[in-house]
Amino acid sequence: MREFERIDDHMVIGGLRAVDLAEEYGTPVYVTDESAVRDNYRAIYGAFSRRMPTRINYACKANTNLAILRILEQEGSCIDAVSIGEVEACMRAGFSSDRILYTGVNVSNHELAALVNRNITINIDSLSELERLAEITSGAAVSFRMNPEVGAGYHEKVVTGARSTKFGVPKDRILDAYSRAVELGFRPVGLHAHIGAGVQVIEPFTRVTDVLVSVAQELESKLGIRLDFIDIGGGIGIPYRPEEGPMDLELLAEEVTSRVINGTSARQVAVEPGRYIIADTTVLLTTVVDLKETPDKWFAGVDAGFNTLVRPAFYGSYHHVAVANKFGLPGDVAYDVVGPICESGDHLAKERSLPRLEEGDLLAVYDAGAYGFSMSSQYNMRPKCREVLVRNGSSNLIRERESIDDLLRHDRIPSRLML
Ligand SMILES: *Cc1c(COP(=O)(O)O)cnc(C)c1O
Repeated sequence: MREFERIDDHMVIGGLRAVDLAEEYGTPVYVTDESAVRDNYRAIYGAFSRRMPTRINYACKANTNLAILRILEQEGSCIDAVSIGEVEACMRAGFSSDRILYTGVNVSNHELAALVNRNITINIDSLSELERLAEITSGAAVSFRMNPEVGAGYHEKVVTGARSTKFGVPKDRILDAYSRAVELGFRPVGLHAHIGAGVQVIEPFTRVTDVLVSVAQELESKLGIRLDFIDIGGGIGIPYRPEEGPMDLELLAEEVTSRVINGTSARQVAVEPGRYIIADTTVLLTTVVDLKETPDKWFAGVDAGFNTLVRPAFYGSYHHVAVANKFGLPGDVAYDVVGPICESGDHLAKERSLPRLEEGDLLAVYDAGAYGFSMSSQYNMRPKCREVLVRNGSSNLIRERESIDDLLRHDRIPSRLML
């Protein structure tokens, strides 16, 4: 959890008081601190690149705002994209095609053709995808996503590397996939696995690296294939709760790179952090609009619901909540923080001890930069909110609030229904 500056009981973000940002931009609003994005990128790139040549593929599904992508482009990051829309966003933000690795699942022929058109390297997820790609192109560099049978994550919905998931080429077919790729005229350059999300310990990363290294060795000894890169995927967790500590990046990098260096002839290690780079750079500011005491609970009703931030409702995720205009004051009432969506599952936080609230107070929901805006929706016909970037005491709007017109623009009423 990031520490924020406090001035006269006010929360300060990037040199600006949260209440002033809320007044200028309205709420709900996502506020991202640019320096934090740069710091996080440099921390993870530095830890790995001091040990061996490293490629950071920022998993942009965590946050695809074009301004955020620009910052990471400037930092020298590369991209892990999972859809053609993400590829397009990254290219518009200035990433050249060679800095994008596409890792899709259940990829359509239409999407494969669009990727080939844009010269994007494809990290192939299945033998079916390989054969279908061969009908469109040949000679291209490819890599494979392997199902490493090593899964981890904070919730069953985010474990991707376990054997029972839909992801990746099964481990017992991976050599077949590479020999078939060579047969079809492709140039295999990499091997990839992604274990899951929000992994707070190092052990699953060392285990998946061991699996990748042993497969790379078999590729070399049995098929004579020497890989350019080993990609350990993403999933590095962050401390969402006050009592949790950060991942030991130096130890993680040491454990991973020593295995790749000693066990393979791969030139480069690739890492695909999404959450690690962007989660703690951003808070969601939301206004207390309604207070309700019931026999069981005290509810703080706010203007952001699971349409704005779905993680608590969808995964049961914890996001720390503070009162931005009573910052650092002791809690005295346990509130459920709930939104305007007509579903009883619509909550941002439960049973949080906060200073006594009044209507108009401003809440800051921490660590909202990853899978926050990018998973938001217009459910209940609520337009998506603004996003703002702050740096050294100044702010920029980086996404305009949607209008009701934006939401209705694509609906069509057949003329016979207008009679
Ligand atoms: C989502 C994803 C990531 C990033 O996951 P984080 O938990 O945000 O680090 C990395 N690689 C692939 C293939 C992904 O799908």
